[in-house]
Amino acid sequence: MLNLNFDNRFVNALPGDPEEGPRRRQVHGACWSRVLPTPVAAPKLLAYSPEVATLLGIDEADIAAPEFAEVFGGNRLLDGMAPYAACYGGHQFGNWAGQLGDGRAINLGESINRDGQRWDLQLKGAGPTPYARRADGRAVLRSSIREFLCSEAMHHLGVPTTRALSLVATGEPVLRDMFYDGNPQYEPGAVVCRVAPSFIRFGNFEILTSRDDTELLKKLVDFTIARDFPEIEGDTAEKRARWFSQVCERTARMIAHWMRVGFVHGVMNTDNMSILGLTIDYGPYGWIDNYDPEWTPNTTDAEGRRYRFGHQAQIAHWNLTRLAETLRPAFRTADPLREGMERFVDVYIAESRAMTAAKFGLAQLDEADRELTAEAFALLHQAEVDMTLFFRNLAEIDAHAPSLTPLEEAFYSDALRRQHQTAFEAWLQRYAARLRQDGEPAAVRRARMHAANPRYVLRNYLAQEAIDLAERGDVGRVHELLELMRHPYDEQPERARFAAKRPDWAKEKAGCSMLSCSS
Ligand code: AMP
Ligand code: MG
Repeated sequence: MLNLNFDNRFVNALPGDPEEGPRRRQVHGACWSRVLPTPVAAPKLLAYSPEVATLLGIDEADIAAPEFAEVFGGNRLLDGMAPYAACYGGHQFGNWAGQLGDGRAINLGESINRDGQRWDLQLKGAGPTPYARRADGRAVLRSSIREFLCSEAMHHLGVPTTRALSLVATGEPVLRDMFYDGNPQYEPGAVVCRVAPSFIRFGNFEILTSRDDTELLKKLVDFTIARDFPEIEGDTAEKRARWFSQVCERTARMIAHWMRVGFVHGVMNTDNMSILGLTIDYGPYGWIDNYDPEWTPNTTDAEGRRYRFGHQAQIAHWNLTRLAETLRPAFRTADPLREGMERFVDVYIAESRAMTAAKFGLAQLDEADRELTAEAFALLHQAEVDMTLFFRNLAEIDAHAPSLTPLEEAFYSDALRRQHQTAFEAWLQRYAARLRQDGEPAAVRRARMHAANPRYVLRNYLAQEAIDLAERGDVGRVHELLELMRHPYDEQPERARFAAKRPDWAKEKAGCSMLSCSS
């Protein structure tokens, strides 16, 4: 029998909305609203993460019991759960959007595991809440598979992220206009149970300042520090300053990792920014195939490309600036906020330098190396070279006899390869000379590179193939990709085909290179 221990500090320490239930409304003077998951017709467990189950102290027998799908499909509560939806606002695509909130996510409770760690459990797609606006509170299978697989993949890639415990089919259809072209279709519904130490977002603070609720803002700040940053010490003002600096630092690290693995979030609105610097809200995200800093998977953003791959650090900075403005009433002077923003820049530069050095297999990145590595990125862009394959195979370059051969499979176009061959060979000569300068054993360099350059990422077409199969009733590929992504830095020869670059059929296919926010 599933038995979790809950300590629901968010609802116990912060004011809630006096009204219960999902009636759509503006919620003032409160951080959350009590609302229950809406039961579904036929909850069925499709997949779960064994690591997350272990983290929570859930064993195989618990997972096999029918109760598991009932609880994580939203049909049954465990003792100690206190479901609620959080009130938050946000800047969407650069504009203040007012109250947003958990429209379809329902927090079940903060579970405390055997080691005393706090893990907040949240169902996404569990039915409408006061924040659902005109939407149905549900999620479709395709987007739920994408969130489930990608959160676990990111974790194993070493990128800070929310986790996913389970993927449960609801047995109910959900109506979605995937292309926003007036052609809605019924799709199978699903619920993902997300797991994180905290689901607090920049937007939880923004909504309070937007309503001039400075008292509650301060309360939420001090609560977040006490619960989610217990290591921070000092008096109240010192703690708040150190905390903001930490948020900036963690956000910088997260973005540097995204750039390292080729992840494009796609919707970096401030309501999708975690205060813990975790990747959160997997929507129309994508993975870089051919290296292109201009690329965005999000068709809703195709025009302005605000959230394109190469712009993510600037956007994080912009979002942190909005957070700093929002937090201003909780600070005596703006100095700590300015210092935090500077910390973001410093940490981002240091982290991305370290990661670039590791990707190229250099002990460290010197001034002259910046040009060498920038030139490589420019070549990858011009010649449309697969980012993941290029860096993984770069470890095979012989510093004493460099050749383009190990990199050939990373090119998408023979014509572009021939066109840029001389430039690549010249670059390789310089690169090999630089490696000889470090004079490290090839095995040491290769190990460093393999730890920074995954063999496998959750390529857009791989997720889409798994979705197509699952929509026809076969979730085997979801399980296989989950297995694959548990060890993304290992060769896994029996699964080598999942390392292949994007096939031609996927170049312009919906779900592979183009995704809308409809989910
Ligand atoms: P997102 O773009 O997924 O971050 O969502 C933006 C806002 O819309 C958030 O407040 C979500 O909770 C809400 N939302 C998105 N989809 C739905 C849905 N199907 N039902 C209710 N609320 C939703
Ligand atoms: Mg969101």
